[in-house]
Amino acid sequence: MFEKILIANRGEIALRVQRACRELGIKTVAVHSEADKDAKYVKLADESVCIGPAASNLSYLNIPAVISAAEVTDAQAIHPGYGFLSENADFAERVEQSGFVFIGPRAETIRLMGDKVSAKDAMKKAGVPCVPGSDGALPDDSAEIIKTAKKIGYPVIIKAAGGGGGRGMRVVHTEAALINAVAMTKAEAQSAFGNPMVYMEKFLENPRHIEIQILADQHGNAVFLGDRDCSMQRRHQKIIEEAPSPLLNTRLRDKIGERCAEACRKIRYRGAGTFEFLYENGEFYFIEMNTRLQVEHTVTEMITGLDLVQQQIFVAAGEKLKFRQKDIELRGHAIECRINAEDPYNFVPSPGKISTFHMPGGPGVRIDTHAYSGYTVPPHYDSMIGKLITHGTTRDQAIARMRIALSEMLVDGIKTNIPLHADLMADAAFHLGGTSIHYLEQKLGIGHK
Ligand code: ADP
Repeated sequence: MFEKILIANRGEIALRVQRACRELGIKTVAVHSEADKDAKYVKLADESVCIGPAASNLSYLNIPAVISAAEVTDAQAIHPGYGFLSENADFAERVEQSGFVFIGPRAETIRLMGDKVSAKDAMKKAGVPCVPGSDGALPDDSAEIIKTAKKIGYPVIIKAAGGGGGRGMRVVHTEAALINAVAMTKAEAQSAFGNPMVYMEKFLENPRHIEIQILADQHGNAVFLGDRDCSMQRRHQKIIEEAPSPLLNTRLRDKIGERCAEACRKIRYRGAGTFEFLYENGEFYFIEMNTRLQVEHTVTEMITGLDLVQQQIFVAAGEKLKFRQKDIELRGHAIECRINAEDPYNFVPSPGKISTFHMPGGPGVRIDTHAYSGYTVPPHYDSMIGKLITHGTTRDQAIARMRIALSEMLVDGIKTNIPLHADLMADAAFHLGGTSIHYLEQKLGIGHK
């Protein structure tokens, strides 16, 4: 087992990974930007290294700085968290070439799955059902693009092959708008992801977002750890996640889960990963694979009793999975609300100093946050300041606990989306068993773009 791990991330996930390491008796190195020098997880780490100024491209995305921090501190492995360098194949490669273990899949797997066009292609070959769409990337020829859209049927969605974080997508309803939309998405994709390649999918009008968590070791074993429903979204970004999905029965879940585990065995996947699907009328359609830990891994932890970060570390250290599929038991129901420093209804970020910070508690309540009274939310990064997770024997109990926890939670000095979460926990459609991915924007009257 490793003696020291460097955590190449910030915020709540830096603290989450640190806690997993400490429990295993592994020392931690925190790397941080100048803006994060006073962060809680920096103070709690065994060692810390400042890797640059506030701007993430000069610090958290600065590969040479992260690697030299690992060198000077003698860390053996690097945990990338989520976001930042977590799905950067060049980083994974450089980490391993420099003699460290990357806690995640092999660079070639990240590369394969990081390009959504090649990922879909690989999944089709592995027998995973995909959203109907263009055969690979769209060509330059307008007539061809128009033909493809006609064949798929409107509305269609144009998506960047290198996209992520809900960006680089555009819905098209008519042929008249098509060519311009493709050109605009390409230009955006080039500037945001450095890759102008785009592809086309059928735009599903009433789907759920359901994903399968998998875990695979380096010895050919792979299991799935149930599903999560992440349909409550704004701007294609999740804000509430739950496990299991209220919509799926065990038979359907097991069938798609086993497909995903089998696909992992086929591509020799290693570590934790997520297969994301849109689910409509009883059918699953693969949209992408995330080759890292996800924000919402917590709800899976609550119903499986497993610590996913520790499992990632065991796999990276070369250990075999200690359980098989039949040993995985899903208990009760868990819900996560992402607490963001933003206006609850127009989503404009609201960084600044938190004057009062009171967290809820009680049975089945978990909070993952790096914030505290007096903490200043820097303006440079993602607006998520923490996650509130509740677990119950039933979904109704998990919702009731969430409702109470939200009413106890107090974050003053900045705006947060706590009021929106409170509204949603009282929402009739959510209570009845959840909603489609477009529900929240329809409810808020902002429609989808
Ligand atoms: P990202 O990598 O940016 O998260 P995804 O491909 O995972 O992109 O899609 C994110 C979200 O965008 C989905 O959860 C869904 O809400 C929406 N979306 C993506 N593809 C489609 C589609 N074909 N039809 C309808 N909505 C879609």
